[in-house]
Amino acid sequence: MTARLIDGKAVAAAERQKCRERVEALKREQGVTPGLAVIMVGSNPASAVYVRNKMRACEDVGIRSERFLLPETSTEDDVIRLIERLKADPDVDGILVQLPLPKHYNIERVLGTIPAEKDVDGFHLYNVGGLVVGGTVFPPCTPYGVMRLLEHEGISVIGRNAVVVGASNIVGKPMALMLMQHEATVSVCHAKTRDLAQYTVLADILVVAAGCPNLITGPMVRKDAVVIDVGINRLPSGELVGDCDFEGVSKRASFITPVPGGVGPMTVTMLLVNTINSAARSAAARDAAGASKSLLGAV
Ligand code: NAD
Repeated sequence: MTARLIDGKAVAAAERQKCRERVEALKREQGVTPGLAVIMVGSNPASAVYVRNKMRACEDVGIRSERFLLPETSTEDDVIRLIERLKADPDVDGILVQLPLPKHYNIERVLGTIPAEKDVDGFHLYNVGGLVVGGTVFPPCTPYGVMRLLEHEGISVIGRNAVVVGASNIVGKPMALMLMQHEATVSVCHAKTRDLAQYTVLADILVVAAGCPNLITGPMVRKDAVVIDVGINRLPSGELVGDCDFEGVSKRASFITPVPGGVGPMTVTMLLVNTINSAARSAAARDAAGASKSLLGAV
């Protein structure tokens, strides 16, 4: 194996230590404890695990989190009413709706109800649009985590060929936009791309988020490329693997993320970062409003 392993667990642990310190400082200096509300509809077992992990991560760094579990029979309007209530709650800095929602829901309508300034998942149209024109309040957590990993490893993306395999709204598209924002030359591939390898071999930085085990093999990767494997797939044997043939790809790449232990731990960590940023921003806005009130009083 020639590739250097990017240890997402270690980077996430260091980021979480910084989160802990920021939460402590917010409590001490401004009397604020960041709060996250997590909404889950139905009882999808995978979603329940994700929600539990997110709440544990919050607890680990001192963020208050509350889970709102709605039965499968809840309507879209029930969820929207709950979001409206949380929107008005000053103790809630972040609102997250665990996906997937029941099939008959209009996901855009539900996610669009979360105000951009509490949309810590970064799925609101305003936040997505901000990735194109600038001004995103919260970057979506998985691609944000990938950018943080690259930064941590000292890997510059400026002027480099970046290829993103996967074009979903939550991973592939925002990933491509973030890489473009950082001045990479970006190609995006998806299930309808013909001859995937002709793109992947050009990549200095290859980000794979397709959900297909062994999609990327060694010969598809340029010598010394940086390979970020976002995929998480459970094989019939129970083993968890990414989208790359790890053995083959790591013989050609200069850097590679393992699965598990690569991008996964960063996704949850960036949710913590977004929630803390939200609390800090609200506290600063409250302070500014207080200061201008007292100035008016003095006039
Ligand atoms: P998705 O199913 O919404 O999108 C998959 C994308 O991959 C689509 O654009 C599709 O066109 C493309 N694709 C599928 N098969 C392909 C193929 N053979 N060749 C090229 N492109 C192909 O999935 P998603 O939500 O974007 O997630 C992608 C993967 O990343 C999944 O394995 C998911 O579990 C994983 N994931 C990991 C994290 C993390 O924190 N590590 C977070 C989110 C998603």
